[in-house]
Amino acid sequence: MDIVILLGAPGSGKGTIAARLASEDAKLKHVSSGDLLRGAVAKGTPAGLEAKGYMEKGQLVPDALIATMIGDVIAETKGDVTMLLDGFPRNVAQAEVLERAGAPIRSVVLVDVPDAVIADRIAGRRTCPKCKAGYHVKALPPKVEGICDKCGAELVIRKDDNPETVKDRLVVYHRETEPLVAFYEAKGLLRRIDGDQGPERNAAAFREAM
Ligand code: AMP
Repeated sequence: MDIVILLGAPGSGKGTIAARLASEDAKLKHVSSGDLLRGAVAKGTPAGLEAKGYMEKGQLVPDALIATMIGDVIAETKGDVTMLLDGFPRNVAQAEVLERAGAPIRSVVLVDVPDAVIADRIAGRRTCPKCKAGYHVKALPPKVEGICDKCGAELVIRKDDNPETVKDRLVVYHRETEPLVAFYEAKGLLRRIDGDQGPERNAAAFREAM
């Protein structure tokens, strides 16, 4: 098992890229910290109840809470698998947790997208609450409006995708997560891709870089 970390702002397309690559290659496993947390919130677990308020405000949940969840997934992932880790680490403290745990990081790929493009992307984002597939009303529309191509469930707009919360999430990204670029660059692990080339080419560029 080894790990490829996806770095990038909310709406940079990390989840779309990881889901696409994982659907094409059984050896790639997509692990999204946001999906794990939304799952815990939906189930009403103690971790979910603790996380909910932070998530709705666009703030980071406490490091220990998410680090435990990710640690569990890493511990149960074995064999000839590459984990596409999407949304974790989100700050230097979390990166240090991974480091202390001796997580086998193969590379860290920054999906680079300007903030102006991000706001537009998130405004059109739709998500399947059941199978987690992601869509965009213009760039990646489902075949039938409002319905998931893969499982037929009704698509939703994420609660934290409203313009005000998106602004806060971008501030948090620049303040907390962007320092990871220098952190991993110093370790020789960082690669960058242009994340504004359209879904197919973004995924291909990522695959090449990882
Ligand atoms: P995402 O789906 O990655 O945009 O994550 C949605 C929300 O979940 C974030 O705005 C945070 O509130 C929370 N979250 C996801 N990953 C992390 C993390 N690694 N550390 C702290 N909070 C996180």
